Amino acid sequence: MDKIIFLDRDGIINKKAEEHDYIKSWDEFEFIDGVAEFIRDLNIMGYKVIVVTNQRGIALGKLSPYNLANIHDKMKESLKSKNAYIEDIFVCSHDIGECSCRKPDIGLFLQAEERHDIDKSKSFMIGDNESDILAGMRYGIKSILFGKKKDNLLYCYDNFIDILNFISRHNK
Ligand SMILES: [Mg+2]
Ligand SMILES: [Zn+2]
Repeated sequence: MDKIIFLDRDGIINKKAEEHDYIKSWDEFEFIDGVAEFIRDLNIMGYKVIVVTNQRGIALGKLSPYNLANIHDKMKESLKSKNAYIEDIFVCSHDIGECSCRKPDIGLFLQAEERHDIDKSKSFMIGDNESDILAGMRYGIKSILFGKKKDNLLYCYDNFIDILNFISRHNK
């Protein structure tokens, strides 16, 4: 079985678009500082990295599926050149209330289970929104907020180094 780090995309791998906007093409995509090294180190620790991302812009017609696939190809290629590997990417392209995969629902994790042999007891979810944390917790894995401490959430860290330390303390 594999230990998996599930990563949200916007706000973890790349800088977010403005509110109510979406990353629509590769030239709008900007990596967050240190994320390639973060993913590389997770790989070294024996984790496979799977991206789970809500991309409602597709349902709204603001982002084309073709451009999204292109963004993800380029993202993976660029990370790979820094020895950081993304194993798989699962996308919810639906509008709110139209599916069971939009986080905080767990459909993307269940899709991942169909393709990967996931050891949930050794896997983690990392996201920058409470909906990511709720999804990870509902799925039944430890879930870490990348951001400022919130009283209602157990694990919050505002930098990748602290997250790596947390994961290595729990790494089995
Ligand atoms: Mg996010
Ligand atoms: Zn969906």
